[in-house]
Amino acid sequence: MSFQDKENVAKTIKEAKDDFEAKTCVKIIQKTVEELESEQIEWYVNITNSLGCYSNVGVSEEDRNKGQLLHLQEQGCMIKSTVIHEFCHALGMEHEQSRTDRDKYVKIYQDRVLKEYKWGFAKTNWENVMEFRDPNLEFLADSSTELTFYDVMDITKAYKCSEKCSKPVIACKNRGFLDHQCNCYCPEGLKGDDCNTIASDDCGGIIDLVPGKEVQITSPNYPNSYDVGKICYWLLRAQNINQTVMVKIQDFDLPSNKDLFRCYHWLEIRYNLVGQPGRKYCDDRFYTDKISSSSFGNPDLMMLIFDTATVTGVDA
Ligand SMILES: [Zn+2]
Repeated sequence: MSFQDKENVAKTIKEAKDDFEAKTCVKIIQKTVEELESEQIEWYVNITNSLGCYSNVGVSEEDRNKGQLLHLQEQGCMIKSTVIHEFCHALGMEHEQSRTDRDKYVKIYQDRVLKEYKWGFAKTNWENVMEFRDPNLEFLADSSTELTFYDVMDITKAYKCSEKCSKPVIACKNRGFLDHQCNCYCPEGLKGDDCNTIASDDCGGIIDLVPGKEVQITSPNYPNSYDVGKICYWLLRAQNINQTVMVKIQDFDLPSNKDLFRCYHWLEIRYNLVGQPGRKYCDDRFYTDKISSSSFGNPDLMMLIFDTATVTGVDA
């Protein structure tokens, strides 16, 4: 079936294309049937308005001269995040729950998976089938609307996007990596040529920890109220990758809407992977007063993000 609202389809695919092209060396180029023939292009993706949103993982021999089918049903699949998701499958990416190391992060209840979905339980409700070993990270499932830091890292590696960079290349720090433009691609909160500068101007910082020694971190102006409209990043860094970072919360009070369970200002703690969003804390209670970096992620790094800028009009 052909697409109805061609303008919206073109716009949505362009949004996905722009995200890939800004962050990776993958280019999405539109071709007419005539161009495919005259340019003798054997391998391509064929976006189709047929039932469901899905794609095979990677290309197969059967797709030669026929196009690798990307099923994007106009009703329900023409959303930027879905288009990106299906293009990622077309490029060869699997779901996170298919990772070889997934059992460290989730427990799969195989007895609850229908036989026909055992291959990936794509159409089941994952909440009944899968349990996060760390419930504080559960919010990450299905949360992304664009290519994430680690998507970009995987595509860059698989498609050798940075191999053309002339040597010597920059040694990116703090888990940044060399991107398709031969610049360091930094975890959010870090910037600079080698990702070794904090992205906030007059607050936050990179703190190198020494084993057994405590460092105190406070919000700006503490114990007085902080200025709103700021995002402060602190990167807490251990001396080597086998050491872990621990944070103890002593005094904490950030405004929230308790009825909506919504933080107005918050402290986000990235204790798992430094390039992945962490859980946000607000309110006057802290759910736990001690948080350690995860041994499964980047144990030697922890990022604290104090955000009083995203929601405006709230006093400190
Ligand atoms: Zn998928």
